[in-house]
Amino acid sequence: MPDALDSSGNPLPRRKPKPEVTSLNGRRLKPATLMMGYGYDPVLSEGSLKPPVFLTSTFAFESAAAGKRHFEGITGIREGGAEGLVYSRFNGPNQEILEDRLAIWDGAEDALCFSSGMTAICILMMAYCSAGDVIVHSGPLYAASEGFVAKTLSRFGVSYVDFPAGATRDELDNILARATEMASEQGGKVAMIYLESPGNPTNALVDVQAVRDARDAAFGADGPPIAIDNTFLGPLWQRPLEHGADIVAYSLTKYVGGHSDLVAGSVAGAKKWMNPVRSLRNTMGGIADPNTAWMLLRSLETVELRMTRAGENAAKVCAYLRDHPKVEGLGYLGFISDPRQQDIYERHCLGAGSTFSVFLKGGEEECFRFLDALKVAKLAVSLGGTETLASHPASMTHLSVPQGRRTELGISDNLVRISVGIEDADDLIADFEQALGAV
Ligand code: PLP
Repeated sequence: MPDALDSSGNPLPRRKPKPEVTSLNGRRLKPATLMMGYGYDPVLSEGSLKPPVFLTSTFAFESAAAGKRHFEGITGIREGGAEGLVYSRFNGPNQEILEDRLAIWDGAEDALCFSSGMTAICILMMAYCSAGDVIVHSGPLYAASEGFVAKTLSRFGVSYVDFPAGATRDELDNILARATEMASEQGGKVAMIYLESPGNPTNALVDVQAVRDARDAAFGADGPPIAIDNTFLGPLWQRPLEHGADIVAYSLTKYVGGHSDLVAGSVAGAKKWMNPVRSLRNTMGGIADPNTAWMLLRSLETVELRMTRAGENAAKVCAYLRDHPKVEGLGYLGFISDPRQQDIYERHCLGAGSTFSVFLKGGEEECFRFLDALKVAKLAVSLGGTETLASHPASMTHLSVPQGRRTELGISDNLVRISVGIEDADDLIADFEQALGAV
């Protein structure tokens, strides 16, 4: 586009990008406000109010020296990534705006986006583990995460020790001592403490503060990072970096994307924890594509609204299901019966979420009748979308988990997982009522 001219025909000076407004009258702006514009200046894109989708594989450098400097960041000669746009396997405008906005929700210094939640989790683990190392992880994990540790990383000489989600400080001390012993026998180190809280699908919570204390006591200042999959409650209802985690991971496919129309993932944390992950992503690829990043920007504008409504709906639906004669129990964070779990909930969570498990009286047959009878809720895996979804983890998402391990983790045949959406709550209750009638 030609430069604009003044009345004498001289080019007007180019407009400069506006500085970010992140506080006003001494008040920090809230994430919900920042989602509308943070990280993007229309001046840089012909005044377009919304960022365009930047479909390009590569970016023109302003000079050869700038290209060299950018590559120093890409190759890790200088930490922290490139200072400019280089090549779409490394970065891009849509992805960078998305990463800036994702970091805000978790109060993180830096964030990285990926083509799926599993890409984020696999690259995160690979960035920290070498042969001989041990990963310590909570259980249950999403089946693919658990499978990646047990079946894939093990082929590269990485072993693991796991502990039940609600483990106490004493139990955690013992687990870390065992992991340290194993690592030294194998000539490696404890490379990462990986948590999922609440766990999929049981909603069992991990005491992140206790994990942090145990890690610091066992390893001092040079301990392994604590990473946590916050997909079930984030970014609204749990902020794990405030409770001692170093890295937060997401399947953005769920609440953040929120419309069941994309697949993506992210990790966030201090730059020192993100640098090795960014470096491996630069090598492997796996960054979210520009269109998906753009859709996630659209989604982030409403994430607080959607999650708030879904949370309110879930509370109403669970209040109905709780007393239903065909329901044996609920795995809903709003109705916790175990005092240890309730204590963790009160310290770590800002809301009970909208994904929960319903234990029906009976087994697989009764669950299948219920699922097949649903008319408003859809029979599908995944969660966190605008529409209500229901599934049977034991025969679907967690089918690859051996039966014995499923029993140990509480993933029983009578468990139906429900993710409540933003429909009318009474319509949902009517649907569950008629579906339970078919059981
Ligand atoms: N973590 C949790 C807790 C999940 O539920 C899922 C998917 O269901 C994932 C990670 C994987 O995310 P994605 O499907 O985006 O790869």
